[in-house]
Amino acid sequence: MASGKLHVRKGDRVLILSGKDKGKKGKVVSALPDKNKVLVEGMNIIKKHAKPTQKVPQGGIREMEAPLHASNVMVVCPSCQHPTRIFYRSIGGGKKMRGCKKCGEYIDK
Ligand SMILES: [Zn+2]
Repeated sequence: MASGKLHVRKGDRVLILSGKDKGKKGKVVSALPDKNKVLVEGMNIIKKHAKPTQKVPQGGIREMEAPLHASNVMVVCPSCQHPTRIFYRSIGGGKKMRGCKKCGEYIDK
């Protein structure tokens, strides 16, 4: 897939296909097309050591989401609720709508 184009977009519900959160579903909070990665709410949580600040002088451990590779998530169709592959249909003006290969409904509204 060419860089800069992801099959997943911000706001999509996705199924995690691999890793420790395999089988879970979550919402894409951020898409990173340049890196071919997506950030999914509550998924792929990693612990990061936080630098000491004035508020928390001892520092600490902060939990945060790490981006998942886009190939490790599958879009969940908002119409049929199934994880699905995507088809693209040109709607003119260089715009493309994404559709669900399972039920044929458009995913983009
Ligand atoms: Zn569908």
